[in-house]
Amino acid sequence: MTALFLVLLVFSVLLLAYYRIPLLISIAILAGLTFAFTELRHFYDIPAWFRWSLGIATVSLAGFAVKPLRRLFISNRLFSLYRKVMPKLSSTEREALEAGTVWWDAELFSGKPRWRRLLRQPAPALSEREQAFINGPVEELCLMLDDWEISEKHKNLPEPVWQFIRENRFFSMIIPKEFGGLEFSAQGNSAVVMKIASRNLTAAVTIMVPNSLGPGELLLHYGTDEQKNYYLPRLASGQEIPCFALTSPLAGSDAGAMPDTGIVCRDVFEGEEVLGLRVNWNKRYITLAPVATLLGLAFKAYDPDGLLGDTKDLGISCALIPVNTSGVEIGNRHMPVGAVFMNGPTRGKDVFIPMDWVIGGAQRLGQGWRMLMQSLAAGRAISLPSLGVAGGKMSSMMTGAYARIRTQFDVPIGYFGGIEEPLSRIGGRTYRMDAARVLTLIALDQGEKPGVLSAINKYQLTEGNRQCIIDAMDVHGGKGIIQGPNNYLARTYQALPISITVEGANILTRSMIIFGQGAIRAHPCLLKEMNAVSGIANSQARRSFDNALFTHIGFSLSNMVRSLLLGLTGSLMTPAPVTGPHAKYYRQLSRMSAAFAFMADSVLVLLGGKFKFKEKLSGRLADVLIHLYMGSAMLKRFEDDGRPASDMPLLQWGMEDSLYAIQQGLLGVIQNFPVPLLGRIVRLMVFPLGLPHTGPSDITVKEVARLLLSENESRDRLTQGVFVSDSDDATGRVNKAFHLVLEAQAAERAIKNALQQSVNFENYEGLVKRATESGVITEEQATMVRLAQKASARVIAVDDFPRETVEQAVTSAVESGAHEPTKTDKQTGTL
Ligand SMILES: Cc1cc2nc3c(=O)[nH]c(=O)nc-3n(C[C@H](O)[C@H](O)[C@H](O)COP(=O)(O)OP(=O)(O)OC[C@H]3O[C@@H](n4cnc5c(N)ncnc54)[C@H](O)[C@@H]3O)c2cc1C
Repeated sequence: MTALFLVLLVFSVLLLAYYRIPLLISIAILAGLTFAFTELRHFYDIPAWFRWSLGIATVSLAGFAVKPLRRLFISNRLFSLYRKVMPKLSSTEREALEAGTVWWDAELFSGKPRWRRLLRQPAPALSEREQAFINGPVEELCLMLDDWEISEKHKNLPEPVWQFIRENRFFSMIIPKEFGGLEFSAQGNSAVVMKIASRNLTAAVTIMVPNSLGPGELLLHYGTDEQKNYYLPRLASGQEIPCFALTSPLAGSDAGAMPDTGIVCRDVFEGEEVLGLRVNWNKRYITLAPVATLLGLAFKAYDPDGLLGDTKDLGISCALIPVNTSGVEIGNRHMPVGAVFMNGPTRGKDVFIPMDWVIGGAQRLGQGWRMLMQSLAAGRAISLPSLGVAGGKMSSMMTGAYARIRTQFDVPIGYFGGIEEPLSRIGGRTYRMDAARVLTLIALDQGEKPGVLSAINKYQLTEGNRQCIIDAMDVHGGKGIIQGPNNYLARTYQALPISITVEGANILTRSMIIFGQGAIRAHPCLLKEMNAVSGIANSQARRSFDNALFTHIGFSLSNMVRSLLLGLTGSLMTPAPVTGPHAKYYRQLSRMSAAFAFMADSVLVLLGGKFKFKEKLSGRLADVLIHLYMGSAMLKRFEDDGRPASDMPLLQWGMEDSLYAIQQGLLGVIQNFPVPLLGRIVRLMVFPLGLPHTGPSDITVKEVARLLLSENESRDRLTQGVFVSDSDDATGRVNKAFHLVLEAQAAERAIKNALQQSVNFENYEGLVKRATESGVITEEQATMVRLAQKASARVIAVDDFPRETVEQAVTSAVESGAHEPTKTDKQTGTL
């Protein structure tokens, strides 16, 4: 009996926490229970300790509801402690944190994501105008792009390609129509970049840069009317080629530490004395710089003579400088690996610029970092993620086809269990990456600027691309290694580090930005607490702190209870918004979201401001957040696609893999918990019955691999949006051979069964003849087999070159001075 009442007591309290019943209602419920059981003692044997416990719980909670009391005894005391332990933020960190908005990330941090809210978001769609552009100019551009010629012969896009890009206003996707731009949605912009990237990286980077963070984006949001009216039409028509220079040799990831300066002064400009800045800079790695006509520049502005007011150190500022301005040095090229897009250094020595070249004019001096961070919060979710997904889709399409075409030991290599593994990773990852790309674009198209989610997308989709390409290379064997026009993989493989490094290098993004910013920005209470303790310690600040703190305590307790109860019940306590075999994934993600929120709070409370320096823990929590988001995106995609049963293996692979990654991330934090004993208790709360996830099963692995090895709707959906060549080029030959091989497979099987010999491109002619003569296959089937074998032979072929050509190419590269360090490096001694 005692045990029964004990369970009843504990369960009542747990349920109140689990369902996040507001404090006053919880008090009322407990008071009601106390009263009811006190009365019931006349009829039943209700132990006194039970009634007393309920009463004490009611009174204790009521104490928390009296705000002056809890301020006096608790929150006012914690206020000073918080001031000490809260992370100190530099102005650049604060501006980065405050840039952008929060969206689904806040739901994941809540520990109780509202799935219906996610499913209510619109399905992705392209406008008719965007679709027409993709089917028209983009398709045409893709046909003009010969990867080998561009990289090996021109080391640049050929002039007709540049001209086509300018004339068709590819540089103006983010510019409004009133300025002559295409004004595409984020979905449209991404679809264009993705399709071009599936054909040629150099063209994709060239097009994505003016449509990403740079002069166009900054002018749109911060430019004066005069600047917009002058520059935007010129940028839209391609009359101006922009670049944006932020990175200095001494300031890469820590771009805010740039040594480049602009000193406010007066000087003569076009015959008149005007107020302006004398700017000095030394920048490197700047995409499009060698061909740019308009240089966007970030520098630190100072006003030592007080020409603008009392502030001497104005802060990071952005200006637009025509490259023909006296003192601007630009034009040399860096040579990034695997791609030949324009990239190079720029320097400026005592360049005088009038004040109206500052983006937004003098009043925007010092706001550069905020402007850049705001723009990055959106742009980072489009360009590089689209590039990453293009890599995944092409890997799925080409690797699946190649693994079906290529046979060894008389079997298509894709049917070997060992090859099924990389094939399924490519397919599953691509499904997941594309889902995340599209979901984030939905947010952008609703006007959100989700800083944390765009960092997640940048990191995870470029990283996912890297994994896909590495797997694709392994499946292709020597075919992927030998360079030449027949190789459609090697250059993408070589160029992988580019997207990993730019727009926030991935290690930094994972280990510092994603969880670090997410915890403060998307957490329901942390930023409010930080803001309350960071200003003047008046009564208003203390009241705000008290409110945030007690919401936080309730939130943490609830997540701890949710995590435990969902763990004990195999997530069955939480509802899913759908029915069917995939409903369990909503429940499992809800459970993991509660565990994540509880764990994040525990770590933050224990470490306080020191958390900033615990990058390994932050990286693991980032992995958890990333895969909670990836899981959400896949579930949304599955609904938007109309729950196609044939996509289930892809969804299963993605969800099982993400859930496993979440589990391992949480486990990693537990094993390295700041206080080991508490780590063990947390483990009991999070995994009370052991570890539930093991990753995709062998059956799922096989099913996903089989989807890539045949022509089917799921494969088409997976690879939708990339350029599908039907020309006689490297990828076109694979597409053609794949189709022919599948068509001929029944005939080849018949030959093998009848003649007890496998068909291959060495012996097919004799076998086909015998099989036709003996009536095993028809003439029509014989033609199919012949075509399939010929097409396969062309796919399997690799290039060779006369020795002199190869050696000559190396000699001329050496003679051209390619080994000379650039002036940038010499000046700063970085080599
Ligand atoms: C091809 C190319 C094109 C580019 N285009 C442009 C452009 O158009 N405009 C522009 O301004 N810049 C451009 N960049 C610069 C790019 O943004 C920087 O390369 C990038 O910010 C990283 O700087 P870094 O290369 O100096 O690396 P570093 O900052 O030296 O970083 C080296 C490594 O240390 C890691 N790291 C650094 N700090 C931390 C930390 N706190 N915690 C964990 N890890 C950390 C990084 O993740 C990275 O792995 C381009 C670069 C390349 C290569």
